[in-house]
Amino acid sequence: MAWVERFAPSPTGPLHLGHAYSALLAWDRAVANGGEFLLRIEDIDQSRARPEWEAQIFADLAWLGICWPQPVLRQSERLDHYRAALARLWARGLLYPCTCTRRDILEATRAPQEGAPPPGPDGVLYPGTCRAKPSGDMPVTALRLNLRAALQGGEIFHFNETGGNPGRVEFTADEAIETIGDIVLARRDMGTSYHLSVVLDDAFQGVTHVTRGQDLYEATKIHVILQKLLRLPTPVYHHHTLIRDENGKRLAKRDDARAIAGYRADGATPEDIRHMVGL
Ligand code: GLU
Repeated sequence: MAWVERFAPSPTGPLHLGHAYSALLAWDRAVANGGEFLLRIEDIDQSRARPEWEAQIFADLAWLGICWPQPVLRQSERLDHYRAALARLWARGLLYPCTCTRRDILEATRAPQEGAPPPGPDGVLYPGTCRAKPSGDMPVTALRLNLRAALQGGEIFHFNETGGNPGRVEFTADEAIETIGDIVLARRDMGTSYHLSVVLDDAFQGVTHVTRGQDLYEATKIHVILQKLLRLPTPVYHHHTLIRDENGKRLAKRDDARAIAGYRADGATPEDIRHMVGL
């Protein structure tokens, strides 16, 4: 069976130990299964992506002993494809323009009679303000997926997980409507979103196995729904534990102290990095 893994960093900061773990794990799994390892640059947020971070990613991964086929896929070169998928969903009546700002959403979800909003995988659960109302002259901030229109009652979704809690993960359309809500598929300033791009690109690149951090476990449900709506295959998912600092906090891009480049400058070897992340 074909086995295609990928590592999909955003060039918005230095790769740290958590990224090294993800990339090495995906690489090791590809090698162990006679598969292929792809690198994809997730640079849809052009306000934060920088060519120098991309160059650093290439240098760090090569130093770790990882190689990948050229040319590398950059999401910024795939905007037409994202637009085409949005047009198909729009034509099916599954999207609606949203004029809410972040603040509008926070205010609507903080209404005292509503209680605390359940946190969706995408942040705060969208209260559906714009679902039924024409956008009028307000500036459109996003296109949202109308989940109620997109899903059939009683429909059951699933994916196969081989990471922390392995097995077949199932969820119903009703659960998705309650916990995921009408997610943003295109932000005005990007013309797409992480969820839409990642699903289209995993399918486009023939990715069969997605190895990534546990923090994206809940987002996988969104990805599975989008795969079904767009008639794309669902890969096998392997969500790994997160590398944390000594206070138990997960590493973030701004944790420069844990940057691979920093360890490297201090004389660490790729083997040292493998030991540090438990590989
Ligand atoms: N670009 C995402 C990140 O850097 C990775 C997304 C994924 O692996 O699905 O967090």
